[in-house]
Amino acid sequence: MNIIFFGPPGAGKGTQAKIIEDKYGMKQLSTGDMLREEIANKTDLGVKMKLIMDEGKLVPDEIVIEMISGHVKSDACSKGVIFDGFPRTIAQADALAEMLDGCSQEIAHVIELKVDDAILDARIEKRLRKEGRSDDNVVTLKKRLAQYRLYSVDVLPYYKEKNMHQEIDGMKSIDEVTTQILKILG
Ligand code: ADP
Repeated sequence: MNIIFFGPPGAGKGTQAKIIEDKYGMKQLSTGDMLREEIANKTDLGVKMKLIMDEGKLVPDEIVIEMISGHVKSDACSKGVIFDGFPRTIAQADALAEMLDGCSQEIAHVIELKVDDAILDARIEKRLRKEGRSDDNVVTLKKRLAQYRLYSVDVLPYYKEKNMHQEIDGMKSIDEVTTQILKILG
């Protein structure tokens, strides 16, 4: 089974993905993590993408699609994937559907984690103190949130029309959020 976690920065997608990964033996694929790895390894791609990411902007579609495609083939086509942070555009969503179709797979659920902005601010400040991600600061967060609002109005209706979208309350405790997700996964 392949699922997508959709939600604003700080919504808890990564936390929940790790839990579900362990429970279901699925593989979390986070385009944000992949890009940060490129940055950490100081690859040419990483050096270029850092500028875009620090601005809170979206990395070009071709780059993320190319980056994720090998993983989709190896993981989604075998054990199932939790997509975290991807797709963020219709072009990415179309590319994903096509990649999955290539091995007779599909997305089973798009799970949207809903969280109010004030709570996101508090969470991101805590994450900033703990992890120190270079794109985690109040200014970039505001930009990433603004970006999220822009791309979610494209991507969510795309999945709503296909009756694949379900939303859950991301403001509950970690355990309660997991429970809501498990109910959807059945
Ligand atoms: P967030 O916590 O803001 O959801 P992520 O870790 O998912 O952040 O991504 C961090 C940054 O990486 C984004 O702000 C964006 O610049 C880039 N990025 C990640 N995934 C994608 C994607 N699917 N398309 C375009 N850019 C992406």
